[in-house]
Amino acid sequence: MSYSSTIIYYEQLNKLSNEHFGDLTTPKILLSSVNFSIIEHLQHDGDWNQLGHMLNNEAKALVQAGAEVLALCTNTMHKVSDEMLENISIPFVHIAESTAKHITNDGFKKPALLATKFTMEEEFYVSKLSEYGLSTVIPIEKSREILHSVIYDELCFNVITNSSRNKFVDIALEVQNNGADSVILGCTEVGMLLNRENVSLPVYDTVQVHCKDIFNSIIL
Ligand code: GLU
Repeated sequence: MSYSSTIIYYEQLNKLSNEHFGDLTTPKILLSSVNFSIIEHLQHDGDWNQLGHMLNNEAKALVQAGAEVLALCTNTMHKVSDEMLENISIPFVHIAESTAKHITNDGFKKPALLATKFTMEEEFYVSKLSEYGLSTVIPIEKSREILHSVIYDELCFNVITNSSRNKFVDIALEVQNNGADSVILGCTEVGMLLNRENVSLPVYDTVQVHCKDIFNSIIL
């Protein structure tokens, strides 16, 4: 989706492979890089049917090109993952399922979700986490507005600022005070500002856990 998070995925998948094999082995990656402006406008216009249809076409093209495993490299667009998967029979690595499995394996139960407003406020993501027994802490409205606007107005443009980092750190403190036992960086760009060093709760960066599971699904 945004090129800034696609860069992180691309780098991380290749790094995991180098580390695993101890040499220059890298996976064959078929990347369908879409026009994110069109996506972003359709999201904010609420035209999720069209988005589901577009992603279904992308998925079919990747299968046609020989893909053996499919991943959708954004949390928000998992809102239409069922539509994307219509008539697709290759395995799909769901980002919220990966995240939930990693959190429950570590014994946490009450993660905070820092993400776009779509992901924080609509049902599709939180209900997936609750299928794994997780009860999600959502930031207060003002914080949700900050997260959403920084993601779309800065991070998706690959712009990183200290003032936004400080705001995100404050939001991580807010959710900790509201009872979270861990923090999900539930948008694939949030790891550009938050990490284990500036958040005191255990951090689950959805890009990192997703890449691990995508890579494992290839090699296992
Ligand atoms: N990459 C973000 C996410 O993980 C938001 C941008 C998008 O819609 O893909 O939700």
